[in-house]
Amino acid sequence: MTDHTHADTLRTPIVAVLGHVDHGKTSLLDTIRGSAVSEGEAGAITQHIGATDIPLDTISGMAGELIDPSDFDLPGLLFIDTPGHHSFSTLRARGGALADIAVLVVDVNDGFQPQTEEAIDILRRTGTPFVVAANKVDTTPGWNPQDGEPIQRSMEAQSERAKSMLDENLYEIIGQLSDAGFSADLYWRVQDFQKNIGVVPLSALTGEGVPDLLTVLMGLSQRFMKEEMAIDVTGPGEGTVLEVKDERGFGATVDTVVYDGVIRNGDTVVVGGQDEPIVTEVRALLRPRPLAEIRTEKEFEKVGEIGAAAGVKIAAPDLDEAMAGAPVRVVRDRTVDQVVEEVKAELAEIEVETADN
Ligand code: GDP
Repeated sequence: MTDHTHADTLRTPIVAVLGHVDHGKTSLLDTIRGSAVSEGEAGAITQHIGATDIPLDTISGMAGELIDPSDFDLPGLLFIDTPGHHSFSTLRARGGALADIAVLVVDVNDGFQPQTEEAIDILRRTGTPFVVAANKVDTTPGWNPQDGEPIQRSMEAQSERAKSMLDENLYEIIGQLSDAGFSADLYWRVQDFQKNIGVVPLSALTGEGVPDLLTVLMGLSQRFMKEEMAIDVTGPGEGTVLEVKDERGFGATVDTVVYDGVIRNGDTVVVGGQDEPIVTEVRALLRPRPLAEIRTEKEFEKVGEIGAAAGVKIAAPDLDEAMAGAPVRVVRDRTVDQVVEEVKAELAEIEVETADN
């Protein structure tokens, strides 16, 4: 595993959003990005390839009284932009899930649906810690929306009738979680997040409860994942392919989430391929250009290196046969053969998993 003797730094936890179709995964991601941006400051979020980085300062600005930023030393949260459990289950890292933590979105009126059950099974199998976003609270009859407010404050502004209707729906979801084998409660009642799943009532439409979700994700990561987040920032980069894409001027490229170490321009890398691992050399590391510059410039900008956790587009020869979900490993001070064997072993594990499903 990672050599912890030098250059240890805490990386950003990787967050995935999953849940039944139409329960609001995309809207929730949009709202998190949008409200982070409207916090106003430059650098409020950083758009990566396939992911969005929300720094602690921005989360703290959004969460207001809910967060004391001095309680945290993790740098923020990296949300994978593609929601859904199909992408989640193909995105592995060293045999586990690529995401360190997940948000399971459940429509507060619809409760558990088939894809909610599937998502729960995947989270259980991969041992991924998660919180439940009980979404669309604003559709409760008679709801009085409190845009962007913490959820308990918003609940105080509701009529008794609206409050009790929402409570009923929330307890239904808590019951369904219990049927699925997870003891759960409204997040502010949870004492031990290792034993109980926190349920966060929220609305992706009005943003109420979103500060709470970010606070809970930050708190969970800080308390239970700090050790896993300690990485050697100068170590050989390790990542997972999100997508293989042809780009004009570059040929086949791999959009990759890097979860350990650093990838540098010119590095020899091994990438999981359809028939066998691909050994190639990084020709360019590409990131999205800031929006303001896109009109006049190219879509991507080149960077010299990229450290975990981050999303990046890797341009290199011979990537046509690369696969989504496959590992990417920098060779650095090891032999190519050694790294090829590592990648083969990891691919074999992924195939066993897929065959099991
Ligand atoms: P996904 O399939 O899980 O990604 O769901 P979407 O984000 O596409 O949302 C499905 C529909 O529900 C869209 O019409 C959204 O506008 C709507 N929706 C999502 N979140 C909310 C919410 O909090 N309140 C309300 N009223 N509508 C929502």
